[in-house]
Amino acid sequence: MKPEPVTVTVPLGARSYPILIGSGLIDRAGELIAPYLRRPRVHIVTDANVAPIYLDRLQAALTAAGIASAATVVAAGEASKSFASLETLLDALLDARVERKTTLIALGGGVIGDLAGFAAAIVLRGIDFIQIPTTLLAQVDSAVGGKTGIDTRHGKNLVGAFHQPRLVLSDTDTLDTLPLREVRAGYAEIAKYGLIDRPAFWEWLEAHGAEVIGEGVDTATRDAARTYAIAESCRAKAAIVGEDETESGARALLNLGHTFGHAFESLAGFGDAVRHGEAVAIGMVIAFALSERAGLCPAGRTDRIVRHLKSVGLRASPHDIPHAYTVDALWTAMQGDKKVSDGKIGFVLAKDIGGAFTTSDVDPAAVRATLADALETAR
Ligand code: ADP
Ligand code: ZN
Repeated sequence: MKPEPVTVTVPLGARSYPILIGSGLIDRAGELIAPYLRRPRVHIVTDANVAPIYLDRLQAALTAAGIASAATVVAAGEASKSFASLETLLDALLDARVERKTTLIALGGGVIGDLAGFAAAIVLRGIDFIQIPTTLLAQVDSAVGGKTGIDTRHGKNLVGAFHQPRLVLSDTDTLDTLPLREVRAGYAEIAKYGLIDRPAFWEWLEAHGAEVIGEGVDTATRDAARTYAIAESCRAKAAIVGEDETESGARALLNLGHTFGHAFESLAGFGDAVRHGEAVAIGMVIAFALSERAGLCPAGRTDRIVRHLKSVGLRASPHDIPHAYTVDALWTAMQGDKKVSDGKIGFVLAKDIGGAFTTSDVDPAAVRATLADALETAR
């Protein structure tokens, strides 16, 4: 017998919803999803990598519970978060005659969750939506909190809507087919929650991080570690989102490592050179280095974070990215980030591990010196 899934609730009043986390959930999807449907009819959106592995299994589980399903498969990759793919998807949904009471299911990583979630938010002025995230990044971050959207030529995620799902099903088994690099990149967002406000979770990660990555670890240990780490991450994000659904205050803490990380990602061209999570890992290291330099955080914390990230196989320094960065280029990229308001960059700094805070009152000279240091010294 597999253990029952762990449930984490996202507290949003009448729009509260559960996240179920555990092994074997796709094969039980019919019975788990049925109570959340207004009619036993769903439309699944997935991508060309995920469909051959999981679509048949999901549809079989739905059929067994008397739920009718149709599916649309879109191309894998960030390029699908575009106006063109959104239009194609909306047409496919209307061709398939989705109705107000049809539920849309996003089966895939963050790209599918963001694109399908946005389609669900606007088709017929909004239909119900369920997430079945299949990447670690999506399970701990993008599937939680209701942000949906697409990219434009002005930047990533600049057009979208808040549309909360009815239910999130995170099947840890899907991580077994995910490339190890993607598992590690997703892990960076897990570590982020420890660094923001969960010091005890951080310590747990220092002891059990390798079990979450899962390389050479027995299945039962790995499943248990992953379930715990995903659940704790969802609790951390749910607590922050519950306080601040639409990002006016506390939610900005979730950007720890992202102001720097986005600069590394955008300059390298959002391609294979650096994955989002890898850039966030490097960005978190720089945020702590800046906090130490400004005397806000005790010395030695940055080294401790670097040690842990490296122990799970993550990159900890811009030296690990095949791109030639300069302080000027990074600084300029940071000014273009959407977290800039009134011309001031919003930073997330920390007074300790688990003690992150937001501020826009940071000496630009200290930022530039920290960046110069990161570019000069390999970690
Ligand atoms: P992310 O969740 O990291 O934002 P994507 O949605 O682009 O990003 O997913 C990353 C890549 O992994 C994509 O190529 C996607 O098709 C693939 N993928 C997603 N889930 C799985 C899985 N469970 N097994 C194998 N490949 C997967
Ligand atoms: Zn992120």
